[in-house]
Amino acid sequence: MVRILDPQLRRALAERVRYCHEMGIYDFYRRDFNEGGRFSGSTETKSPSGEMFAASLSLYESELREEMAARRSAVAPIIEEGIFEVVSPKPEYGVADPVAALQLIREDLGDCTRCKLHRQGRKQIVFGVGNPRAELMFVGEGPGADEDAQGEPFVGRAGQLLNNMIKAMGLGREDVYIANIVKCRPPGNRQPERDECETCSPFLMRQIATVKPKAIVALGATAAKNLLAMNAPMSELRGRWYDFKPAGSDPAWPGARLAVTYHPAFLLRDPRQKGEAWKDLQMVMKYLGIEPPRKAAE
Ligand code: SF4
Repeated sequence: MVRILDPQLRRALAERVRYCHEMGIYDFYRRDFNEGGRFSGSTETKSPSGEMFAASLSLYESELREEMAARRSAVAPIIEEGIFEVVSPKPEYGVADPVAALQLIREDLGDCTRCKLHRQGRKQIVFGVGNPRAELMFVGEGPGADEDAQGEPFVGRAGQLLNNMIKAMGLGREDVYIANIVKCRPPGNRQPERDECETCSPFLMRQIATVKPKAIVALGATAAKNLLAMNAPMSELRGRWYDFKPAGSDPAWPGARLAVTYHPAFLLRDPRQKGEAWKDLQMVMKYLGIEPPRKAAE
C-alpha cells in the first residue's frame, strides 16, 4: 500500500537527493531496516523508508524536469529574450564609451547593501578589472580574502594561476576583463548563496553588456551555473560553447560565446586537471583566432 508522506518530509528528502546530485552522486541503493534498525538486506520490501526514498526521487525528478525546462527556456532563446521584455532604462544605456558606461554602473552599485553579504565582513566591493573593450572576459565566483583586501578580482594565489593561464594564451591581464558573480566576499570563502547571486549578477550582466566580449570563460561550476541558469556537473558543462547575451543589451551586438573551465582555485587543489583546463582555453583561443606563444606557461 502506498503511504502518503508528510509534504515537508518529502521536500526534505528531495532536497537531500538534489544535494547528492550536485555533489556528483547519482547512484542510490535502497536499504530497508527492521524495527531494531538492522538492515534487512531485501531491496524488494516495500518498507516506509523505501517508499519515502522512492517518493523523494520522483518528486526530485519532476522538480528537476520543471526546473530544467524553465531554465532551458531562459537560456536557449537568448536573442529572442529581449524582444518583448520591458527593460527599465539603466544609466549606462546609450553611453557609447565603455569606460564611462562601466563607471556609471559602478556609481549605480554605490555602497551596495542589496544582499546580506554587505554585512558579513566585506571590506570593500570588488567590481571588476581589465580592458573595457576586451574580446575575452573571465567570470569567477566571488572575491576571496586577498581580493577583498585589494579591491580587485583574482589577485591571490588563484589569481596568479589565472594570470599564468592568460599568459599561456598569449595575452596579458590588461587585455581581458575579469569579474565575479558576486562582488562582496562571502564569509569564510563559502560559496555565494542563490539569493546573493540573483541580487548581484544583474550588475555583472550590465558589465558584460557594456564590454561586449566575443567570448566569456566561466571559471568553475558556480559561475557557470549562474551565468547559464542551468544545473549540471562540470563534466557536462565543459567542452562546448553556449550562446550568451544578457537581456536588454545592444541589439547590434551579436552576443558572446561562453565556455566553461575549472576555477583556478580548484586547479591549485588538483593540478592534474590543468591539462583539461588548457584544452578549454585552446577552444577559446581557436575561436578568437589567438596563436599561443611558442612555450605555453604552466
Ligand atoms: S554581493 Fe553584490 S548585491 Fe550583495 S552587497 Fe555586494 S555588491 Fe551588493
